[in-house]
Amino acid sequence: MKVLVIGAGIAGCAAAVALHKAGHDPLVFESHQRTADGVGAWLTLAANGIDALAAIGIGEDLLRAGFPTPRFELLSHNERLLASYLAGPVDTYRTTTTIRRDDLYRILREEVERLGVRIEYGKTLRAADVDPSGGTRAFFADGSSVPGDLLVGADGLHSTVRGVIDPAAPRPRYTGLLNTGGFAHEARLPAGIPPRTGVMQFRFGRRCFLGMTLAPDGDVWWFANPFSPREQTPEELKTLDGERWRRELAGLFEGDRIPARELIDASAYVYPGWNTYDLPRVPTWHRDGMVIIGDASHAISPTSGQGASLAIEDAVQLARALRDLPTGAALDAFETLRRERVERAVAQGARTGSRKAVGPVGRVIRDRLVMPLVARNARRHDPAGDWLTGHRIAWDEPVAPVVGA
Ligand SMILES: Cc1cc2nc3c(=O)[nH]c(=O)nc-3n(C[C@H](O)[C@H](O)[C@H](O)COP(=O)(O)OP(=O)(O)OC[C@H]3O[C@@H](n4cnc5c(N)ncnc54)[C@H](O)[C@@H]3O)c2cc1C
Repeated sequence: MKVLVIGAGIAGCAAAVALHKAGHDPLVFESHQRTADGVGAWLTLAANGIDALAAIGIGEDLLRAGFPTPRFELLSHNERLLASYLAGPVDTYRTTTTIRRDDLYRILREEVERLGVRIEYGKTLRAADVDPSGGTRAFFADGSSVPGDLLVGADGLHSTVRGVIDPAAPRPRYTGLLNTGGFAHEARLPAGIPPRTGVMQFRFGRRCFLGMTLAPDGDVWWFANPFSPREQTPEELKTLDGERWRRELAGLFEGDRIPARELIDASAYVYPGWNTYDLPRVPTWHRDGMVIIGDASHAISPTSGQGASLAIEDAVQLARALRDLPTGAALDAFETLRRERVERAVAQGARTGSRKAVGPVGRVIRDRLVMPLVARNARRHDPAGDWLTGHRIAWDEPVAPVVGA
């Protein structure tokens, strides 16, 4: 089948590789120019995401470009350790990995191109429809159109394909948190619990949440989530450039013992701010030879560290289904394989996110009651059996049709 993949982000590239492996003929369209690769700072891939990439033969380069961060530590605004636990299974290969976003995109796109699959840059999908000759047709902003047997919307949170499939589809939900981050070079941090390689630290400031880890080269990679009950407008976001963030963040951590100011001062560049969103339930994922995957169908709060991993899982499971079943049955089977899992993950991500922005009373409850429980459960729990991070995809196993569909 000729499969039109819209978006050369994480889901789109993984889908192109997986569909090629499944014997199909993908063609990828990306609205940005190729030179836009360096967007965003860094992210963690969970063990389940690494496993899904391994299922389609991507791994070695990625693991070399990133570094393992298997342990999570949660700290209070006054540098008290609240919990320390393994973030997922740890083995030689499938371990939580932290990587620069531009490295991840580069490695995925290089793999797509190595397979001989074309990515057309500067092509923005505007609409799609059933083609009179059968299959679907994609319409682009430059006036061109392309026919295909199937169209995969991997076009992210603000997906166009989602609205084509169902004009009444819900819109992303603002999480109440903004995001910024950077890379601190030779940061001189005050006494406290120092960042360490292999450990992702999360600090609950009183007005802002801070995550950080020490990269093997000695830089501290960090992100901050300022609490903001109101979603910023596009105009406001334009004014939230790196310099403004430097000033704002210094104020937001005032009075906390969190070493934010030192990190910000040691960062040559502070990334401009984003609103963060999730998308709990999109009722319709596919119709008439069009399907959505990744953030387009189920965005999860960035707090979870799972968005990219779930997007990769989607891509691999969709390709497996399309390898084994006719299109209609494959899309039903894909949804059956995925829906319950991703909606459960999004709900868990929302709960975790809501712990970040709490008032003084909530803070005491969280730090004194909830966090010890988190720590105790994590200690008792075998990460290899965890429903989220312990998930494994058996590429060679055939996908069964949905009974009664
Ligand atoms: C601040 C922040 C931090 C995050 N941290 C993590 C983390 O640590 N771990 C993690 O797993 N996840 C994290 N995530 C989530 C993760 O980035 C997403 O879940 C992941 O990128 C989803 O992949 P995707 O391919 O579905 O969408 P994207 O990666 O957004 O890719 C969509 C692509 O489609 C293109 N596109 C959009 N519209 C069109 C169109 N009309 N025509 C053609 N192309 C189009 C876009 O340009 C883009 O390249 C974070 C997200 C944010 C915002």
